[in-house]
Amino acid sequence: MHKTKFIFVTGGVLSSLGKGLAAASIGAILKSRGLRVSVQKLDPYLNVDPGTMNPMQHGEVYVTDDGAETDLDLGHYERFLGTPTTRNNNYTAGRIYYQVIMKERRGEYLGGTVQVIPQVTDEIKAAILSVASPEVDVALVEIGGTVGDIESLPFLEAVRQLKKELGPFNSLNVHLTLVPYLSTSGEHKSKPTQHSVKELRSIGIQPEIILGRCDSTPLPADIKRKIALFCNVDEDAVFSAVNVKNIYEVPLRFYHEGVDQKIAILLQLPAQNPNLQPWIDLVEACSHSNGEVTIGIIGKYVELKESYKSLHEALAHGGLANRVAVNFRYINAEDLSEQNLNQQLKGLNGILVPGGFGTRGIDGKLLAISYARQNKVPFFGICLGMHCVVIEFARELAGIAGANSEEFDPASPDKVIYLMSSWYDHRTGKTQTRSHDSDLGGTMRLGSYPCKLTPGTIAHQAYQAEVIHERHRHRFEFNQAYMEKLKEHGLVFSGFSPDGALVEIVELQGHPWFLACQFHPEFKSQPMNPHPLFKDFIKAAKAHKPA
Ligand code: GLN
Repeated sequence: MHKTKFIFVTGGVLSSLGKGLAAASIGAILKSRGLRVSVQKLDPYLNVDPGTMNPMQHGEVYVTDDGAETDLDLGHYERFLGTPTTRNNNYTAGRIYYQVIMKERRGEYLGGTVQVIPQVTDEIKAAILSVASPEVDVALVEIGGTVGDIESLPFLEAVRQLKKELGPFNSLNVHLTLVPYLSTSGEHKSKPTQHSVKELRSIGIQPEIILGRCDSTPLPADIKRKIALFCNVDEDAVFSAVNVKNIYEVPLRFYHEGVDQKIAILLQLPAQNPNLQPWIDLVEACSHSNGEVTIGIIGKYVELKESYKSLHEALAHGGLANRVAVNFRYINAEDLSEQNLNQQLKGLNGILVPGGFGTRGIDGKLLAISYARQNKVPFFGICLGMHCVVIEFARELAGIAGANSEEFDPASPDKVIYLMSSWYDHRTGKTQTRSHDSDLGGTMRLGSYPCKLTPGTIAHQAYQAEVIHERHRHRFEFNQAYMEKLKEHGLVFSGFSPDGALVEIVELQGHPWFLACQFHPEFKSQPMNPHPLFKDFIKAAKAHKPA
């Protein structure tokens, strides 16, 4: 095989049916058939990227190695496929339109009228084709939103054109819809699916495969037949996508339904049985834990788990590595006070302060850190969590009463965390500058950076490596003017940028496990390859007997 084949995944009836998971799962089975797979997400909203969107609305912002701020579905793709994504794996309508408008301003359209068809659709097609390469056998392209939305029309039109241009056996459309079950009449209803496919066909796209999302009962044969007849697809191309307890079961479910076999026929892929043993082992490991731990996550967006998606997964992976089930207790930092601290944090095996932006909830996070430090509860701080650790340590142990982050108090006399105006960027090989009034989108340290570990530390013990690479997304850094003073009082600096200018990890000795890092390790944890820091944090949590 040399030409990349495309599978376009669309969604019908309503949102949140799990297109991302469906795409990632199909990708995983195809990969286990020995194919090289890439997955791309196209988001129809007009933000240029999700970087500035509220996690409460959009869920977590996932960061790639090359520093793109992307949709959280890319996290699923990496976790299911085990291969890193890049900025080419996520395009929004905003980014597409931005590119078109920039071209228009530069005069690249040579005075022509710029229209949705063909200029915008051409830009979308170029974005889709950017994932094609001699190294990719099959590219899955997930179109965000629901068929029928005004926003997704240019994307679907681009897909229609591409399907035609790619020619037979080189592309197909998998349409994921909802097939509700009516308990009063005791039957599955196919009408919403029929309407959704009718809508797709009116745009000129005939789906080849229909995945009917249903609750725990698979679709009966007569309903599948009915959907096939009304939607003009093969009878053996309608599959059930049932609710599962554990998302890592989905590839196995799809395989048992025969999804990959049908795809292989339709795309003329080489006949090959998938090796799904690693997935069988994973699902087995998920259902056989030896005990449980409860981790308290002291955050701001506790109402919506999606805003901490990768973190949630990484903790679960840490549990898998230690054969324990991980229970999550999301605690709103704003609800914590000195009076209720013991009560609120009682019974936890570990405490974690995740990344975040802004001042809301900082006092509660500092209280939780003091509690974990004093009560020797395993503790993990990430990004903003590390900033809070440094502040708490400086105030409580090093006697710097006014210690703060420039982000929380720009007038603080002791900015132990500050905005570095100039720093060497190991990723681009250039010195970067940033000022206090540069625009918010452009001043973050984003993407993968090397970090040198100090031998004999918790970090070194976890990674068993001299140099590691982790992904960043932040504006503020540790202020090295305070390093000696904090060292004197016992703060251990265990990870630095290779030139020593940036502090990447701090930790405490004489504590079962207390570590905080400037980067976001959760983005690189995978179920088949749990992240070393999450593995060791959960190991310590497992050993901790809460009061
Ligand atoms: N708000 C902090 C900064 O910009 C931390 C960011 C984060 O936790 N991702 O540096």
